[in-house]
Amino acid sequence: MDPYELLGVDRDADDATIKKAYRKLAREYHPDVNPDPVAQERFKEVSHAYEILSDPQKRAAYDRGGDPFAGAGFGGAGAGFSFTDIMDAFFGGQPGAGTGRGPRPRVRRGQDALIRLDVDLAEAAFGVARELKVDTAVTCETCHGDGAAPGTRPVTCETCGGAGEVAHVQRSFLGEIRTLRPCAACRGFGQTIPDPCRECSGDGRVRTRRTLTVKIPAGVDDGTRVQLAGQGEAGPGGGPAGDLYVEIQVARHPFFTRQGNDLHCSVNVPMTAAALGTVMTLPTLEADLASETSSPDLVTSFELEVRPGTQSGTDQVIRAFGVPGLRGGRGDLIVTVLVDTPTGLDAAQEELLHQLATLRGEEHPTGQLRASSKGVFGRLRDAFNGH
Ligand SMILES: [Zn+2]
Ligand SMILES: [Zn+2]
Repeated sequence: MDPYELLGVDRDADDATIKKAYRKLAREYHPDVNPDPVAQERFKEVSHAYEILSDPQKRAAYDRGGDPFAGAGFGGAGAGFSFTDIMDAFFGGQPGAGTGRGPRPRVRRGQDALIRLDVDLAEAAFGVARELKVDTAVTCETCHGDGAAPGTRPVTCETCGGAGEVAHVQRSFLGEIRTLRPCAACRGFGQTIPDPCRECSGDGRVRTRRTLTVKIPAGVDDGTRVQLAGQGEAGPGGGPAGDLYVEIQVARHPFFTRQGNDLHCSVNVPMTAAALGTVMTLPTLEADLASETSSPDLVTSFELEVRPGTQSGTDQVIRAFGVPGLRGGRGDLIVTVLVDTPTGLDAAQEELLHQLATLRGEEHPTGQLRASSKGVFGRLRDAFNGH
């Protein structure tokens, strides 16, 4: 809007006229005088207009049809306009001062706390109970949180009479401006503690180390946060405690890696076993728990059937041997079979392989060029390209 119109002055009005017009409007619309939201909006507008017209550079920029706030660090007209800044500029107020809401409560909810817990893969997969040592504030037992020494009580603040705020009158070119500020004597609480509790120095809380037993549910993953309600920091003044969050950090396993709820690993088999087929007994992830529990339900091994003629790189899927899902179900175990080419042949073995090659007509393989077989990266690329 046109700042001249807002202040109701002529285009060629001098500084004194502009100031006078603004003072008149500010008295009418100032929030301490007129609590109506429409008036507050109006006060913002006229203050904005005055900010432009009281500054020769901004006024000249506006008269030229330009942006009065260009290059002034405001980021464009109106964009960075802050009601509080203007209030402070004129009245020397503090942000948030004089909210007129009475004393602030001494009793408040405590803050949440976060700690990290290292677990191994099997513990994350199948759940575990752990003892944790946590350092948090707890309500002071000597004063039960009110901060007063036993046998004494907090008393109403004499300075503010319990309101938590004091009126502050300031003279300015607008006349007397009355604002409310937090009471310095009681720091806004409306009460003072003449004889503070020695245990907590009047805070109502003391720091202490506690031991907690935390149940980590089955299926958590790296970064999962387990919430323990009411186990965080105690609140000031005997207020309720916040929550404690336990963030899970899963250690790397020697051979299982987790992808979602599936487990991946690989196993090497000799060339002869891959050709002839075999069955191998291998450890499950549960086997890691066997040292801690002796549950008869624990399945500590699985059988991997290598079919005759298995090629190197073949994935074998063992259904439901992966990680239990947080919401039920269970992932798979995927074993990649890698075929070992025999090395270090002695004369007899070499002779046997020569015979085998002769029988199979493989003494002089001619070979046949083909397009490169796709490795992991090729498959990933295809997945990205939607093939
Ligand atoms: Zn105390
Ligand atoms: Zn006070």
